[in-house]
Amino acid sequence: MYDIAIIGSGTAGLAAAIYSARASLKTVVFAGDAWGGQIATTNDVENFPGFDTGIDGPELTARMGKQAERFGTEIVWDFIEELDTSGPPFQLNGRLDKYSAKAVVVATGASPRTLGIPGEEKFWGRGVSTCATCDGAFFKDLPVALVGGGDSAIQEGLYLTRFASKIYVIHRRDQLRAGPYLAQKALEEDKFEFLWDSIAEEVIGNDTVEGVRVRNLKSGSTDVLAVEGFFIFIGHDPNTEIFKGKLDMSNSGYISTDARMHTNIDGIFVAGEAQDDYFRQAITSAGEGTKAAMEAIKFVEGIP
Ligand code: NAP
Repeated sequence: MYDIAIIGSGTAGLAAAIYSARASLKTVVFAGDAWGGQIATTNDVENFPGFDTGIDGPELTARMGKQAERFGTEIVWDFIEELDTSGPPFQLNGRLDKYSAKAVVVATGASPRTLGIPGEEKFWGRGVSTCATCDGAFFKDLPVALVGGGDSAIQEGLYLTRFASKIYVIHRRDQLRAGPYLAQKALEEDKFEFLWDSIAEEVIGNDTVEGVRVRNLKSGSTDVLAVEGFFIFIGHDPNTEIFKGKLDMSNSGYISTDARMHTNIDGIFVAGEAQDDYFRQAITSAGEGTKAAMEAIKFVEGIP
């Protein structure tokens, strides 16, 4: 029996673990399928306070994990498939084992959206990707295309400039959604070619990506871009499927919470992008993980 079980190993989950374990509670983090969450797939994290010259996402989460372990957190490499919310204690069923805990922090985060166009699935991992840090290096001196106009699209696109010879930025409007700092950097980037008012309709190739069919929404004309990589950065969906019908959530699946990270079930708390579709920053997730842990500690200790 754990005191506090934390589902998810992103910045929300790891911050929660640091606080919970440091309060001498028996703490477990279920690492899930991908250690570190989204920030672990990000290069050059420049805005996490305390790292004045920036830090790599994988290093940041590795250090947070070590910090949590230093205080006694157990990291379990299991993926939780079911949470029985009738506790406390709460039962957690993983792929590998069953667990129970007096309180739970849900920190399952969010996953990148895909377009659902022909060829996207076929060429997944063979030129189609949602992670520049993971796959950008495969495209040294090669042309690629990306879809999206938000901060993620631009940040990831700028990372791709280290490798790709050219980057087509396909955006469905004629203005970037990205904030002014990144938007300015994007517009000044020589390797970017913007295709405004345009959507990707099909990924084309034989064994790997060879092109992307693009439609201009204003003229209706289509064109095939000869590219070897196709990156999709169009936002995220929360990883909250297993909590449907158990925890209150919005229509888009973000878990409802009050200002203290409580869900509708006493003893179950939520932090990070499983409940936040607005701020979505590593540091805000870490802050929410901290708040969730502080409330979970009080719950376990019976403090009102
Ligand atoms: P986002 O801000 O929601 O942007 C998604 C982009 O994808 C938008 O440009 C959107 O177009 C486009 N899009 C959405 N669905 C599409 C579809 N089906 N087909 C084509 N295009 C589609 O998502 P995000 O960029 O992942 O950012 C999420 C949050 O994290 C934001 O609050 C952002 O500020 C934050 N963030 C910050 C940083 C940073 O360094 N400060 C870095 C990454 C993320 P429209 O513009 O037309 O809606």
